Amino acid sequence: MMNKERLISGLEMMGVAYDQTAIERFEAFHAILDEYNARMDLTAVLDEDERIDRHDLDSAAPLAQGLLAPEAKIIDVGTGAGFPGMPLLILRPDLKMTFLDALNKRILFLEDALKRLGLSAQTLHARAEDAARMADHREMYDVAVSRAVASSATLMELTLPFVRQGGVSISWKGPGVQEEMTAAKRAAFVLGGTVRGVVPAPVPRRDDWAHVLLITDKTGKTPKTYPRKAGTPNKKPLA
Ligand code: SAM
Repeated sequence: MMNKERLISGLEMMGVAYDQTAIERFEAFHAILDEYNARMDLTAVLDEDERIDRHDLDSAAPLAQGLLAPEAKIIDVGTGAGFPGMPLLILRPDLKMTFLDALNKRILFLEDALKRLGLSAQTLHARAEDAARMADHREMYDVAVSRAVASSATLMELTLPFVRQGGVSISWKGPGVQEEMTAAKRAAFVLGGTVRGVVPAPVPRRDDWAHVLLITDKTGKTPKTYPRKAGTPNKKPLA
């Protein structure tokens, strides 16, 4: 059973608003994750408290920072089992969320979970490099979010092409982000972005984690040659 008190006190410590429906949906989402995990390898199996901290509260970081405008159109690039997109949508059902992943079994899981939670969102089974060349998705989002998908320079190429000018890319990073910063700034520049910087994203009761959000503004258009073909951003990061 999910430890509701831990989730609620964590959200309160972060200053993130929630309602009863959100807490019920988190509980239901955890149960659906367990159900799927019993028959397929969906996420690392964590104990309930760690799942709340590592997945739910960590994913909510941009809400603590007031980074997501009402009804913002967001794409979660490499969402896996729905992080950070699902906790963000549970807490803010006004968001227009698209969940993207290259692995179809994760997309099928998310479609089932969304239906059972009574949430609406778009799902997309594709490589980010291919989806960002589709007219419906290229430079169509206010925000691209991504967690645990690639190095910062690679992530620029996987996220910035989705973001409209004036929008923002938000990546979840650890303390090692500073070592990636020079390459990330160069890659962002090539792709029409400007790194704004990192903001601390502390998870309550986990002072040793030192999580941050890397924030990049979309200040120009992404040149047509980007993203390069699937796999190249990973193999040969820009910079
Ligand atoms: N974001 C989730 C989280 O934080 O728990 C999942 C992280 S998991 C380590 C990385 C996910 O990114 C996988 O589900 C993988 O299929 C997806 N992924 C990696 N590269 C991708 C790409 N180029 N396009 C789409 N999905 C990608």
